[in-house]
Amino acid sequence: MKRHPFLLFVLMLATVAPTIPGCSRKAPTHTAMIYAFGTLIEVTVLGVKPQLAAQAESAMEKDFATMHHTWHAWEESPLTRVNRLLPTGTPFAAPPSVLPLIERGTRLAEASGHLFNPAIGKLIALWGFQGQHSDSHPPPDPAAIQALVKANPRMTDLTLDGIMLSSRNPAVQLDFGAFGKGYGIDLAIQHLREMGIRNAIVNAGGDLRAIGSRDGMPWRIAIRRPSGNGVFAILKVEGDESVFTSGDYERNFIYAGKRYHHIIDPRTGYPAEGTHSVTVVHSDATTADAAATALFVAGPDHWHEVAQRMGVRYVLLIDSAGTLHMNPAMANRIELLDRDLDIALSEPLEDKGAAGPGDPH
Ligand code: ADP
Ligand code: MG
Repeated sequence: MKRHPFLLFVLMLATVAPTIPGCSRKAPTHTAMIYAFGTLIEVTVLGVKPQLAAQAESAMEKDFATMHHTWHAWEESPLTRVNRLLPTGTPFAAPPSVLPLIERGTRLAEASGHLFNPAIGKLIALWGFQGQHSDSHPPPDPAAIQALVKANPRMTDLTLDGIMLSSRNPAVQLDFGAFGKGYGIDLAIQHLREMGIRNAIVNAGGDLRAIGSRDGMPWRIAIRRPSGNGVFAILKVEGDESVFTSGDYERNFIYAGKRYHHIIDPRTGYPAEGTHSVTVVHSDATTADAAATALFVAGPDHWHEVAQRMGVRYVLLIDSAGTLHMNPAMANRIELLDRDLDIALSEPLEDKGAAGPGDPH
């Protein structure tokens, strides 16, 4: 398995954005780098005194270390304990650190029609996308994949009664890989706000949430070409928004000339086909992260209906043929630097009164 985090890497351009004449840039910027969730997380805070910035840095280090440990899907953690107990079918007291992810994960899975499905941990482990990175290996036995697809594990197989958790399907194994990072970033932003910080970006390898502004200017987020050669688009982000991308280049392995990536279609048990990458903009990072994965699985023909159901308003999907699919609101706000892109504009994504999960923040 290889990780290519730089191929479609959303960069912060804020630091190199040209200064507008007459607009002074005085707010001090503090950046901290923290390793968690298999990636380097960059926390940038603006306009605060050095003492508060240092407090924020150590708070973020502690928070991410705790979250990294708590939700680890294969190293001994509260989550692995839950996964050991679920197949027994007997109710047990679930660790409080895991409960909010189960609740959010269930609502998001339902809204996505279970294309985002954190209950397919067994399939992900079978494919080798947990554990140490390894190079080329054969794909799993098709019969084993088929058996897991047939067992149809879903978040809705779980029953939560207070803190007592049980599963009526022994095939359910939880893997928070598709939205744990988003949830962690939401908690981090919440903590920064509680410390009195109003302007910040928490950027985990290109997946980010920004609050406030950069000295009264929008944060400028660059989106790199899937080929890895430079930037093809710029997105302005202001107020409180998250930008998340799921791509087939993030983690994959090649066997007998065929590439297998880490986003699994729960309906087939195989890596989802037809999509190269999906970028979603949403207010909260948890939803943005889950939706990017769900829309990747939904693919160029069905992303629109799934986005609608998840309450997502801004989507950019690059299909396997290189066509850029966008809804009009996304097209209106994105600045495309490439002129010769093949663009497919969808119908608008309408606000039909929150069919999807709400933003708890
Ligand atoms: P990234 O890891 O690049 O942030 P994603 O957010 O799309 O990408 O998460 C992919 C991870 O989510 C996989 O490594 C796996 O652990 C898990 N996963 C894969 N397919 C699904 C799916 N259909 N639903 C939920 N989780 C998934
Ligand atoms: Mg995701």
